[in-house]
Amino acid sequence: MSSRRDFLQQLTIGIGVAALSPAAASATIANVKKSEKQLRVALMGLGGYANMVAKAIKDCKRVVLTGIVTGTPGKIPEWQPAYGIPDKNVYSYDTLYQIADNPDIDLVYITTPNSLHYQHVLQVAAAGKHVICEKPLADNAQQAREMIAACKKAGVKFYVGYRLHFEPHTRELIRMRKAGEFGRIMCVNNYMGFKIGDPTQWRLKKALAGGGAMMDVGVYALNGARYATGEEPLWVTAQETKTDTVKFAEVDETVTFQLGFPSGAIASCGTTYNFNNYERLYLIGDKGFAELSPAFSYGPTRGRTHLGAMNQPIVNHQTVQMDGLADCILNGTPDPGMTGEEGLKDMLVIDAVYESIRRNGEKIYLNKKGTV
Ligand code: NDP
Repeated sequence: MSSRRDFLQQLTIGIGVAALSPAAASATIANVKKSEKQLRVALMGLGGYANMVAKAIKDCKRVVLTGIVTGTPGKIPEWQPAYGIPDKNVYSYDTLYQIADNPDIDLVYITTPNSLHYQHVLQVAAAGKHVICEKPLADNAQQAREMIAACKKAGVKFYVGYRLHFEPHTRELIRMRKAGEFGRIMCVNNYMGFKIGDPTQWRLKKALAGGGAMMDVGVYALNGARYATGEEPLWVTAQETKTDTVKFAEVDETVTFQLGFPSGAIASCGTTYNFNNYERLYLIGDKGFAELSPAFSYGPTRGRTHLGAMNQPIVNHQTVQMDGLADCILNGTPDPGMTGEEGLKDMLVIDAVYESIRRNGEKIYLNKKGTV
């Protein structure tokens, strides 16, 4: 796709009058403009997760989907009428820079493969739009630092899609930990994994995925260890197990890793692409405990503590995330742990996990500045 004109020409050829009618498009935009308190979002990379986020946005109070960025023109005829997106808000990766001139879009939500996050965040920041980037934030901590710097320079907000920070059970666990209800945190056991299917998918290609299970879902166990303790690890050890060297030739299959925190708390975590039913957050303090299971997938999230079953509401994770982040951006409410800096903190530990694996499980120390 060489230009936006080509893109829209191809769109017209492809779908003819089936595209969104001008009346429907202008009605949608007019509705958006009526409310100054709505965050206008474009989704970039219209795959599985973007579909889920788009559907969730329909139930948002403070968010409206106004644009799309895609490299696949064939997806446009479905997306435009489904979400009332006018031609002028449809972009390709090549025309993304033109989003700078579009007042109907405040934020771009990046849901492309992991190793494209870096370049896409830099492009969106250069266009002067706020960014939510999916996890894992980048291929490594250095990229994450550059992404944060680019967003700061451009004066745009930068978030990572850590949806659990708006999930009620997770928030209650964090509230209880901060209130001292578990006492001193002694130990955390977190794991998250699944058996991956299609051996040809991008998640198994290092150039697009950056890494394997650790990057994709191990980051939940890691992020969970950080919010369960409220601390940054001082050291990391890690081990990799590979049972299928063909399927997992390029990326990690199963990783176990351990973290040591300044208070003396320890975390023992795992992740895999090789088996199912591997998902739990377990926190043990000297006055109590908490267990979330499921803890990291879309749920419904369930939990219990030393006080009994948790009775938090079951929510759509993406809807509460989007409404919550819109509140942060539009009304300045405090961010619950989804800034680019939070993504960087996890990338620093992921770098250390891979470093430890390369060094046969050696203990890797993270210094006070948070560098490996
Ligand atoms: P998909 O493969 O389903 O979608 C990725 C989309 O990215 C594609 O459909 C495509 O959209 C676009 N794309 C651009 N370049 C490429 C390329 N070279 N190869 C493949 N796709 C490309 O992936 P997911 O939606 O499952 O994952 C996307 C991101 O979201 C990942 O970073 C993942 O970790 C994250 N994610 C987060 C979840 C969460 O709960 N927070 C859950 C699932 C995923 P187009 O054709 O429109 O260009």
